[in-house]
Amino acid sequence: MNFIDTKDNGLVAVEDLYVKDLAQKYGTPLYVYSKAQLVEHLRAYNEASGNVEHLVCYAVKANSNLAILQLMASLGTGFDIVSGGELARVIEAGGDPRKVVYSGVAKSVNEIEYALSQNILCFNVESPAELERINQIALDKGVKAPISIRVNPDVDAGTHPYISTGLKNNKFGVPVNTAFELYKHALTLDGIQIKGIDCHIGSQLTTLNPFVDALDRILNLVDRLADAGVKLEHIDIGGGLGVVYNDETPPSVSDYLKVVTQKLAGRGLKLICEPGRSMVANAGILVTRCEYLKQGEVCNFCIVDAAMNDMIRPSLYSAWMRIEEADHSLDREVAKYNVVGPICETGDFLGKDRVLKVASGDFLVMHGAGAYGFAMSSNYNSRPRSAEIMVDGSVSHIIRDRESVEDLWRHEHKIN
Ligand SMILES: *Cc1c(COP(=O)(O)O)cnc(C)c1O
Repeated sequence: MNFIDTKDNGLVAVEDLYVKDLAQKYGTPLYVYSKAQLVEHLRAYNEASGNVEHLVCYAVKANSNLAILQLMASLGTGFDIVSGGELARVIEAGGDPRKVVYSGVAKSVNEIEYALSQNILCFNVESPAELERINQIALDKGVKAPISIRVNPDVDAGTHPYISTGLKNNKFGVPVNTAFELYKHALTLDGIQIKGIDCHIGSQLTTLNPFVDALDRILNLVDRLADAGVKLEHIDIGGGLGVVYNDETPPSVSDYLKVVTQKLAGRGLKLICEPGRSMVANAGILVTRCEYLKQGEVCNFCIVDAAMNDMIRPSLYSAWMRIEEADHSLDREVAKYNVVGPICETGDFLGKDRVLKVASGDFLVMHGAGAYGFAMSSNYNSRPRSAEIMVDGSVSHIIRDRESVEDLWRHEHKIN
């Protein structure tokens, strides 16, 4: 089901509201999310898990707006966090800390103390030194810290190097062989309670093979651990399922989890997954307005009011994201453009070689913007960050105010 699409009259709509009306009402650049689409994506994960005991832990970093976390929490999801700040957000949004798994290579003493005090479900431990630190803090508090070890299965996710995390040369997790010894060591630590095993091999994976290879390696380790007396309650398969931005053909959630649940059959392990992108990317758009058209010697530019500070994915990973007119019914000349923003960097573009029917003042829609969009935005070039809207049927809710210029220097001090 697609809740963001073009109606017969040529207008792009999010559920029952036209994008161009939202842009006029709230201004641009503007992030717009569809509540129904978010609910649908979550439903797909829960349905595909079948009757296997499972917990979907939404990866907060993909989009951490309170209203999105609140929606997920109200539907019973857990959360995968990578910082104390994300845990605070989850709690503020009404999420249950007992459904939180905590990943990340650099958990500080403060963050570990905070997470322990909130009784999170599990620390996904990424190094021997982190295990020692967690053990010590738990001993000092007289509690046992629940842990999994994040195993790096050394598989090539076949994705962009910046978002690949499961290879030997990545900073994430513990190699399979080290993990075996580390589990045996963890058994001897009084501040540690072994809960499960974890892996996450990368993001925007568009084939099943790397997932299957990783799972086989992890399950092989689970068997060796069982023989060595280390019993696990859950297996956390991480996130990483790809989405369609252009012409990718990622596996469906149901195909993906079918393979996983088949491999887990009869093992009595609870399944945890940590989807981020596949939950939110295609539930959100970035709306921008064309400021100027400019003819260059080798290409035309469509200069818009959104920039790499609002959406960095094209600049950072050469990500291709679909851009279309918010109103296809307008009578405009067809031309090919590089869609660029106001920031003073040549790397500031949203899309290259895009055929558009556009004039100054028209609105454009960038699709797939719900994940790693607003969450990675910044104030570079002293640009206030955009507003965020959640559409629910024919109602729009503002879920983040557009920043003001005063917000830009709110935490700064002149020296007297
Ligand atoms: C980023 C991340 C995820 C989510 O990845 P997606 O590709 O957005 O699904 C899950 N787990 C961990 C540990 C992560 O760092």
